[in-house]
Amino acid sequence: DMRGNYIARRIMPVVDFPKPGITFRDITPALQDPRALRNSIDLFAERYDNMGLTQVVAIEARGFIFSAALADRLGIGLTLIRKAGKLPREVYSTSYTLEYGDDILELHKDSLKARDKVIIMDDMLATGGTMTAAVELVRNSPATIVETAFVCELLHLGGRKEMDRIGVNSYAICA
Ligand code: IMP
Repeated sequence: DMRGNYIARRIMPVVDFPKPGITFRDITPALQDPRALRNSIDLFAERYDNMGLTQVVAIEARGFIFSAALADRLGIGLTLIRKAGKLPREVYSTSYTLEYGDDILELHKDSLKARDKVIIMDDMLATGGTMTAAVELVRNSPATIVETAFVCELLHLGGRKEMDRIGVNSYAICA
């Protein structure tokens, strides 16, 4: 879809960030461009319009941006997966390994019910470690996961193959 290409062209590679040897993809220009922002939500809304989703599950922090807009567009709810210590009530907790150490994701235990049919969203798929942890977290609940959704995907890190038996949907390929 050309709209995915339009978004991809507004994601800027930043060499040696946050440290030498790493190229970071900066999505902030795509957020600032009204057409890229609108395209990203349009593409998701077209796909998920008639799937009977009840919640968009969003990963902190940049996943929140797209998930909130999409949930509003679909007229469904927003469920937050947050970093450790942010959610005030009882949580499911999953730790996962990143390039620079471990991190923890949490989800309120009572946030998803058996009737819930959800997608899990983030801004970018890199190695897949973050989304794998998020899927594990949601699998503690009785909800049904339809697939995972990303605005942008870094193909060379093979994140798609990490996503065990769960579909991956993304619209922009970052070279
Ligand atoms: P993964 O766990 O390696 O798939 O990394 C994906 C997570 O880290 C997502 O939450 C992204 O927001 C973030 N991330 C990893 N690499 C980048 C990048 O180059 N640009 C922006 N976010 C990134």
